[in-house]
Amino acid sequence: MKDTLTTSLRNIGAGIINLLYPSSCFGCKSEIGKPGLCPQCTSTLKPIRAPFCSCCGQPCDGEISGSFNCSNCSGRRVSFEFSIAAYLASGCIRDMIHDFKYHRRIAMRNTLGKLAESALDDPRIGGGKGWLLVPVPLHRRRKRERGYNQATEIASAISRTRTLPMCRALHRTRYTSSQAQLTRKERLGNLHGAFALRPSLSVHSVIKGARILLIDDMFTTGATADACAKVLREEGKAEKVVVATLARG
Ligand SMILES: [Zn+2]
Ligand SMILES: [Zn+2]
Repeated sequence: MKDTLTTSLRNIGAGIINLLYPSSCFGCKSEIGKPGLCPQCTSTLKPIRAPFCSCCGQPCDGEISGSFNCSNCSGRRVSFEFSIAAYLASGCIRDMIHDFKYHRRIAMRNTLGKLAESALDDPRIGGGKGWLLVPVPLHRRRKRERGYNQATEIASAISRTRTLPMCRALHRTRYTSSQAQLTRKERLGNLHGAFALRPSLSVHSVIKGARILLIDDMFTTGATADACAKVLREEGKAEKVVVATLARG
């Protein structure tokens, strides 16, 4: 009885330690001795490479040289210069983002930040020097539910490794329903007036005239990014806003 109890307690203890300091692969859960991705899972990731849309970053099969806009972006007006993502949101990346957002896997932040960093290697950004990182905000209530804002965690990790300044310049003023089930038009309506600049003098002075990299985990239709960029440009008078995300849906 005592032995069973000791074993149970030991198992519970190991479970908690694993939760806090997982030493298994975030993708396949195999033991790798430290938190991260095993070589097999790393090899299944799909980095976004040219050719891709010069506006939304949507990759395109085929032989296209030079810059082009995809059919979604032709004639579309957005408040950001362009958007760039590091990876396609498939397989392991999609699962990791899901766990990071909905299962409080905070230990993933450095791995995800490291993966997202490669979006900054786009020649139009040149590694990020001279750019200010601004994470897409979460509403207070959703942040409480989730425990943290995934975009801020990714932006902080990039800020540390690339020594780039970061400013949590935006806040979300309305608690909106999940965007996932909505059409593009509904998403735009749902987001109207949902973001604002934080009412602080220092935020205003940092944003004015700045070149901003708006950081998020995922780019899908671009409605969220566009709404944030609009506030940064119009209210904040930022010089330009480029969207950089870990993944593209
Ligand atoms: Zn793995
Ligand atoms: Zn496009």
